[in-house]
Amino acid sequence: MKRIYLDHSATTPVDVRAADAVYDFMVNRFGNPSSGHVFGREAKTGFDQARVAVANLINSMPEEIYFTSGGTEADNIALLGYAQRHRNEGDHVIVSQVEHPAVRMAADELELRGFQVSRVPADKYGMIHSEAVAELLTPRTILVSVMHVNNEVGTINDLGRIGSLLRDRGIAFHTDAVQSFGKVPIDVQELPIDLMSLSSHKIYGPKGVGALYIRQGREVQGRSFGGKQESSVRSGTENLPGIIGFGKAAEICAEEIQREAKTIGDLRDEIEHLLTSRLDNVRVNGHPEHRLPGNLSLMIEGVEGEAMLMALDVAGIGISTGSACSTGSTKPSAVLLAIGLSEEEAHSTIRLSLGRSNSRQDLLYAGELIIETANKLRSMSGY
Ligand SMILES: *Cc1c(COP(=O)(O)O)cnc(C)c1O
Repeated sequence: MKRIYLDHSATTPVDVRAADAVYDFMVNRFGNPSSGHVFGREAKTGFDQARVAVANLINSMPEEIYFTSGGTEADNIALLGYAQRHRNEGDHVIVSQVEHPAVRMAADELELRGFQVSRVPADKYGMIHSEAVAELLTPRTILVSVMHVNNEVGTINDLGRIGSLLRDRGIAFHTDAVQSFGKVPIDVQELPIDLMSLSSHKIYGPKGVGALYIRQGREVQGRSFGGKQESSVRSGTENLPGIIGFGKAAEICAEEIQREAKTIGDLRDEIEHLLTSRLDNVRVNGHPEHRLPGNLSLMIEGVEGEAMLMALDVAGIGISTGSACSTGSTKPSAVLLAIGLSEEEAHSTIRLSLGRSNSRQDLLYAGELIIETANKLRSMSGY
């Protein structure tokens, strides 16, 4: 059976060029980058190149990139590590209401540790406005965390505006850029960002590896203690094959980013038009303009998202409902509720996320099947 993957916001297939590099550094250049002999040096060379490749994609210095076990750990270190390190300067932290659980739950943990946490609301498009952040600032605020692109509805925040507001006051700004990295241009020389979370497996690299960008001069408390790798931010022998694959994936994205954003954006617009013109009572979630090219979050009234997911799964098509991270639970997505959808509307929402592997033909085929399934489900439920 033909299979069509439309869930690139959950994870992506590893690009074969990255997979080849991973293999090479597992089998041939397997040394420990800390070793002083030729095996170590060989590993270290590849390792350093990977750091440069990741840095280049956000225009940072390589020394500002700290490899982690993924986006989740980067988010955790940014919030917990920064707040703990700067506790003597203030005890107030602001996060947005529509963050990924890796930030949301790290903020909950900060509360347990005695910090004050404010949660800034998003507008109906899932966008966070600098004015809303400004209202929550206190003289004790030390850190603000607002994601770059929302993983459910794809809305792109204006980090420049939020960041300038904070920079004037000396408050650190963290952004979870896991969904935008490699897909939307990011330049830390232009953007007033201090900490930024990145992940490999959302950009066609292997899983279990990511990075935290820490602007020179900013400091966090490390999360593990031992061999002082990654400048003690994360001790432990580095996941060299993973990091190599991450670096290769970043290199490929740097070459493809412009072209890919255009082709994927055009495909998304086409399927969006197909679905919204052929089905009535559907609504696109997220910002009409400032939205990730590959994201399509669609509320189809009278159609249970889970039923749609299962019907498409039988046909070999992978989509998601609400957030990938809450799969298995039947609770409506907290993000969709936070931007004003009713429980029923949240349950009627599906997310298609397009990527490098999708052809126009596959997409149109999936679109026809979604329309057919929606009509069938609607008539079955007497809609
Ligand atoms: C996937 C994702 C994460 C988690 O990254 P992992 O590498 O899977 O730990 C964090 N934030 C956002 C926005 C994500 O989409």
